[in-house]
Amino acid sequence: MTKTKPYRVLLYYQYVTIENPAEFAKEHLAFCKEIGLKGRILVATEGINGTVSGTIEQTDKYMEEMRKDPRFASIVFKIDEADGHAFKKMHVRPRPELVNLSLEDDINPRELTGKYLSPKEFYEKMQDQNTIILDARNTYEFDLGHFRGAIRPDVETFRDLPQWVRENKDMLEGKKILTYCTGGIRCEKFSGWLVREGFEEVGQLHGGIATYGKDPEVQGDLWDGQLYVFDERIAVPVNQKEHVIVGKDHFTGEPCERYVNCANPECNKQILCSEENEHKYLRGCTHECRVHPRNRYVEENGLTEEEVVERLQALEKELVQQ
Ligand SMILES: [Zn+2]
Repeated sequence: MTKTKPYRVLLYYQYVTIENPAEFAKEHLAFCKEIGLKGRILVATEGINGTVSGTIEQTDKYMEEMRKDPRFASIVFKIDEADGHAFKKMHVRPRPELVNLSLEDDINPRELTGKYLSPKEFYEKMQDQNTIILDARNTYEFDLGHFRGAIRPDVETFRDLPQWVRENKDMLEGKKILTYCTGGIRCEKFSGWLVREGFEEVGQLHGGIATYGKDPEVQGDLWDGQLYVFDERIAVPVNQKEHVIVGKDHFTGEPCERYVNCANPECNKQILCSEENEHKYLRGCTHECRVHPRNRYVEENGLTEEEVVERLQALEKELVQQ
């Protein structure tokens, strides 16, 4: 048995009416700070969505207190063990909506949503020939890991997904559709929207990938790569049976699961890149980003102008030889 780690990361959401999100957020922030949690929580009239980290005692206290509130009595907490906090600060922010699909006529998942599927049901349905597995996340999340055979919608934000579906209707029509996302919250809305669009058989992975990876029966089977998470950990494992790396180094295409942000502060794009290539390419995703006057890699490493020129010349030489 491995020893239990001293910290935990909780991931959770609940679609439920919260009358005054701004006031709730203020009080909830004070409450979280008092316990000693760190993390990011969004509050809207339609509900709550959060990821928080803390010690076992702190997270126990939070879950216990939350469940005393009838609005959150049935909330499902996905629990990851951790070595330390996964955030630097504690934020609770009021928002107009929990997830933004930018619909003129928004979906209320409590009224309309796809069929909830347990990890076992999802696993079985994935293997049906007439089924399309549609990833409801963004490309940078997909690129680190996804279900084997899943479709990668070419979208950088969630709100672009409906448009992508309409443009790719031919591929989806007449098929059974399975959707999945990190913890399940995006699929609640997205699968409801798919039903409203006229797709007949729409299933969603209940509890998301986070739940699927912990399910004692499926154990993350048929998942390749890692799960992208929105905290300092960035990547967490899912498949307990095997680990197939699907991430590719931005520069060389070699297998890679290490995300960094482009050093050009105006770009800041997330790229998969090895430590070696980070140094070699001054952590710039393009030539323009490498030579940007405020390149953060250059600043962090205190490189002189000569050293930068040297690196760029070495790189140019190598690219010419290829
Ligand atoms: Zn860049």
